[in-house]
Amino acid sequence: MNIRTKLLLGIGLLAAMIILLVALSVVNLQILTATDPDSPAAMPGLDRALLWISVTGIISVFISVFLLIWLPHTIEKPIKELTNGIMEIANHNYDKRLNMQDKAEFREVADNFNRMAERLKKYRENTLTDILSGKKFIEAIVNSIHEPIIGLNRDREILFINKEALNVLNLKKEEALHQSAEELSLKNDLLRRLIRELISSDAKKEPLKIYADNKESYFQASYIPIVGTDIAPDEPRALGDLILLQNITEFKELDSAKTTFISTISHELKTPIAAILMSLQLLEDKRIGMLNEEQEQLSSSIKESADRLLGIASELLNMTQVEAGKLNLIPKITKPIELIEYAIKANQVQADKFGIQIEVEYPEEKIPKLFVDSEKIAWVLTNLLSNAIRYSKENARVIIGAQQDADGIELYVQDFGRGIDPRYHQSIFDRYFRVPGTKVQGSGLGLSISKDFIEAHGGTLSVESELGRGSRFIIRLKA
Ligand code: ADP
Repeated sequence: MNIRTKLLLGIGLLAAMIILLVALSVVNLQILTATDPDSPAAMPGLDRALLWISVTGIISVFISVFLLIWLPHTIEKPIKELTNGIMEIANHNYDKRLNMQDKAEFREVADNFNRMAERLKKYRENTLTDILSGKKFIEAIVNSIHEPIIGLNRDREILFINKEALNVLNLKKEEALHQSAEELSLKNDLLRRLIRELISSDAKKEPLKIYADNKESYFQASYIPIVGTDIAPDEPRALGDLILLQNITEFKELDSAKTTFISTISHELKTPIAAILMSLQLLEDKRIGMLNEEQEQLSSSIKESADRLLGIASELLNMTQVEAGKLNLIPKITKPIELIEYAIKANQVQADKFGIQIEVEYPEEKIPKLFVDSEKIAWVLTNLLSNAIRYSKENARVIIGAQQDADGIELYVQDFGRGIDPRYHQSIFDRYFRVPGTKVQGSGLGLSISKDFIEAHGGTLSVESELGRGSRFIIRLKA
């Protein structure tokens, strides 16, 4: 029976009872008006009529109470069932089905609900299979990569870690998987360093030296943030991080072989170059014999080239020292003016050749002494002054000087030459880098070695330069 029939039946029954009640009341009234209410003949009729009215009244009240309870219940029950069904689906129970075949109004709703639940179940089974097979693929890829990989979720718990990573971290899979990497790192130095580098963007990311596979190996770590844009494409959400360790031992070994090779070659080159220079000196000695003009020109050009070769050999040798970590500083107390004078002396010929005027700024009484490897700092100043001369126009002026500042001593070399584009202010300190379009000959090594030398002293080397206005290279050292 559907709700409509139930409603009609209930209301019909109630209406019939009310009509009966009214009819009985009318009959009763007629009896009362037709006879003398006090006459004995009227009494039985009246009593019967009253009895019927009471019985009908009570039945009507019962029917009304029954309808009042039963009718809302018949409507409420299927709605409750539907609500429960929706809740089950919301809780991912896609097996929930509704059976309302006896409730005509809800039959269609229940059928649609069941159809939706069926589709959701199939969809979930499919996506689950997809996700599981995707996971298997990723696991296979991760495990087949011979570089250590660690995957962290956004709470920095280890989601996956391959055999190589377990090996270098000296961990077992069961003690690492699903554990907080930060907690694990308290007992694991290597993991601590990786997490520190992952968290702080300014941590120095130098290759890691790890004892793995019974030998010393070098690894370069890279940190890849994983972001999701599936929910809101404009608002990427951090999902976690991937830590990759690339085994660079082979490159390190090759690099060190290259360093040894360059070091040997440049060292071996120095002796024959010195011999050439010595022979040239003898050749120029008037006591041995006079050279004609052409021969003099040739000998000066040989000297220039030999000097350049010697410079390059010494730069390469210095570079190999830095790269091999063999930079042996022999510090001693030095007056900054001595370093400046050395640099000027070493560059004077070159400066005279181009008509460059070297000016010295040196407030004698205000400059304290330095405790540095004077040879290395003098080499840097010589190199900076040589650059200032080489990158200036003829007959320009160049300033070399020193001053005291709050933290120590500043040694500087300033020129008024071509200047350096701000784009290259960082790169000029990289090995072999030369500003594109530089015509003056050079190796691109001087500034990078200079920076290494100064940093080895705990100081800094920086540049202030503007295109077309010149450059100022500043060495800052602690007094
Ligand atoms: P090199 O001078 O041998 O090429 P450096 O390492 O000394 O190597 O310098 C790197 C580059 O920086 C140079 O090639 C040049 O382009 C630029 N540079 C260095 N010093 C100056 C300067 N004083 N003025 C303009 N450019 C400079």
